Parts: sequence; C-alpha cells; structure tokens
Amino acid sequence: MVATLNLTEKDLAETGLREDGLEYTQRPAIFADVPDEKWNSWQWQMANRLNSVEELAQVIDLTDEEREGAGAEGIFRVDITPYFASLLEWGDTYGPVRHQIIPKGREMVVFDSMMADSLNEDAHSPVPGLVHRYPDRVLMLTTTQCASYCRYCTRSRVVGDPSANFSRADHDAQIEYLQNHPEVRDVLLSGGDPLTMAPRLLDDLLGRLRAIPHIEIIRIGSRVPIFLPQRITDELCDMLRKYHPLWINVHVNHPREITPEFSRALHKLADAGIPLGNQSVLLKGVNDHPEVQLQLVHKLVKNRVRPYYLYQCDLVQGAGHFRTPVSVGLEIIEHLRGHTSGYAVPTFVVDAPGGGGKIPVMPEYVISHGPNRLVLRNYEGFITTYTEPEEVYERDEARLMRYLEEPRRDEGTQLGVAGLTSGHHMTIKPEGFDETHSRGREGEAEKRGKRNFQDDYN
Ligand SMILES: *Cc1c(COP(=O)(O)O)cnc(C)c1O
Repeated sequence: MVATLNLTEKDLAETGLREDGLEYTQRPAIFADVPDEKWNSWQWQMANRLNSVEELAQVIDLTDEEREGAGAEGIFRVDITPYFASLLEWGDTYGPVRHQIIPKGREMVVFDSMMADSLNEDAHSPVPGLVHRYPDRVLMLTTTQCASYCRYCTRSRVVGDPSANFSRADHDAQIEYLQNHPEVRDVLLSGGDPLTMAPRLLDDLLGRLRAIPHIEIIRIGSRVPIFLPQRITDELCDMLRKYHPLWINVHVNHPREITPEFSRALHKLADAGIPLGNQSVLLKGVNDHPEVQLQLVHKLVKNRVRPYYLYQCDLVQGAGHFRTPVSVGLEIIEHLRGHTSGYAVPTFVVDAPGGGGKIPVMPEYVISHGPNRLVLRNYEGFITTYTEPEEVYERDEARLMRYLEEPRRDEGTQLGVAGLTSGHHMTIKPEGFDETHSRGREGEAEKRGKRNFQDDYN
C-alpha cells in the first residue's frame, strides 16, 4: 500500500528528496483505509500510536530480537506514531529509522559505567524538573510524555511514565524558583516533549515564563516535528510566536527522517520567526559515518535548520548497543570542518557523566607555539604560522567596560577556568587537596590563621 501524499515538484525541491521519495511514505497496510483527514490530524496520530508487540507486528515483520525487546519486562516505554511507523525500513531490522525506535533485546544488557541518571540531573534539581547546572540558564522539564520514544533516551528514568507527569504544583514551583533567580536569562523547555503538552497548558506556561522580566530567551527542545509533524499547525505557530525571542531545537539523526511532512513543519516554524537548530546523537549503525552526517547537515541547512550539537551517546541504561568510540565523532568533525559550510558543522560534545555539562571535543588545529608564533594546520593538512603582535598586549579594561549597558556578571564559584585566564584565581584544586599536601601540618596552618597552602610561598 502506498499512500498518496500529493508531493509537488516544490515539495521535492524543498526537501531535497529524490524523485523516488515515495519510499519514505509507505503507509502501513493497517492504516491504508484511514482517510487523509484523520491521518493528517495530530490527535488521531497520538491516539493511534503503536505500542504492543501485536500492534508492531501488524506493521512490520518483527525479528526475534525485536520481539524479545518489545516483550521484555521493565523495558523503556514503546510508542510510535503511525506517521513515524510509515518510515520504518520494512526489510531491515537495522534500518536507521527502525533501529532508533523499535526495541531490541540487547537494551537490557548491562555495560561498564552504565547509569540511570548519567548526567546527574537529579542532584542539580533545586525543585522537581528544574535542572540548574549552568550559571545563567536552566533546563525545565515540563512533561514526561513524548510523541514516540527513542530507544537511547538519556532521560528514560523519568520519561514515558504518564503517572509520574509534572503537575500544576510542580510547574508553579519551577516558575517560582525562576522568579527568584534573576541570574537565569535563558530557559530551555524539554522533558519529555513540551510540544506534546495540551495547547492551553503550554500557552499558559510560556506566558508565565515571558512575564518574568529577567528571562531573555526561551528555548524548546522537541522531536514532535519528526514524530508528529501534523502537530505543527498554523494555530500552534501563532501561539508560539507570541513569546519571542523563542528558539527551537529539533532532533534529527538521519537524512531519512527529513520527509516532506517534516520539511513543511520546519518551514512553518521558521516562517513564524523561530530560529531552528538541530541536536543529533551519534548512534552506532544509524549515523556513525561522515557521509551520513554530511548528507544530514546539508538537508538540515536546506530546511533552514542550523546543526547545533552532535552528542556522544550517554552512558545511560538501554543505550549500550548504540555507543561508538569518541574518536568516531572526531573523525566526523574532521570530515565536516572546512569541507562544507561552517553553518552546517555542529559542535561535537560529550555530556559529562556525573553532571559536568556539555564538553566540546574537537580535532586539534593548533599544532605548536613559538615565542611569538602560533603554528596552525587547516583541514587539508596545510601548515601555517600566525605571528602574534610584537608589543606587549594590554587591554584597556576600564574603557571597554564603560560602553557596556549592564554591569559585569558575577558567576561566583562557576567562573571556573575563565577565572584562571583572567587572573581572578590562580589554581583550581580538587577537594581535599590542601589536606593531602599539608602532610599533617594542619596544626601549624591553624596557628597561622587558616591561610591556604598556596599562601605559604608568598
Ligand atoms: C544542555 C543543557 C543546557 C543548555 O546548554 P547550551 O549549551 O546552552 O545549549 C542547560 N542546562 C542543562 C542542564 C543542559 O543539559
């Protein structure tokens, strides 16, 4: 059964699909008689998601390892919109769409350093669902629900369970925290997927955030345009555009996810003035090849989406078989930077296990330093030198500050390594460092009035 999608020449041109784009739109036979009106309604798509082994088996021939996965006790929630199911590769268990969304038995395999909360988000949550890890921005979990569930979900410990959803009281506590924290200028709504929330609830939440004067930008992280592009209606866009500056990051991992429907949803969002970014996860068997990434980022920029981050797969339960060595990410960046538009190159990051946040990892471009020279290489391996200015560098700090509208921000103890470069502090010490190195001289240090170890040399 092949559904008619009425692809126009323009659709094909906009999406960069080939003429044989119909391979993307094979409507599963069980939905063949569903009228287009229903198929194109997001409510119908949400209500008719596939979740049991029986339902999945009606759409594709499940392999033994998929049956084992979908039937396993305690498995992370399975749910797939009929639209996304229409993209499944029927003949290939390891097809890039199918592998992301249909569980396999090996999800249950334990691996070294596996964690439930690998980013230690719970420890950074002052109120339920609010993760305040960075100085000026927070991650706000608004719902535990998604349109479909990615097998490698980094937040599978909280996502999926409808009985554990965030309540009005949780949202109130999150808003109250934000009202009381003027250092927060950027709020990132995620979950779960904020765009699956009841329209009025989301409208209300965005309104309450926008009413907080110190919140400069609001961002939404969503995979709804991928799983449920029907949800991106004109009404939704009209609602979202009330809350500018509003940014959206989508989550595309493979060029096959970029369909005419998805493309149309992106155009609506972009036309509503919303800057669009993409966050991908580096997944073994899905997108762990420079050519796949190159095609992905090219299709994204054609659709007005700026590749933002490429994530190393987290050390999260269920994701073990998706992990690649970090070197694969470096290889991919090596194949992108310089080879294609800078706009198309994402930042490759490892989200630090234990809660250190996102750490960019890059190929080395600075090869060496001489007294006044930097030795650099480009993507082709051309090696050059940059001669530094001869005079001693002095910065007229007072003047530079005079023309700024806002006073200097105080990040307190989160100034970190930037504080070393600017001379605010000389060292950063691991916990217990002074005690270790005083080798039993604590008593003397006490007598001298608790000066730290460093001061002993002054
Ligand atoms: C990713 C993330 C952010 C946003 O990080 P950016 O680098 O600004 O995109 C904020 N808070 C938490 C907890 C995050 O995980």
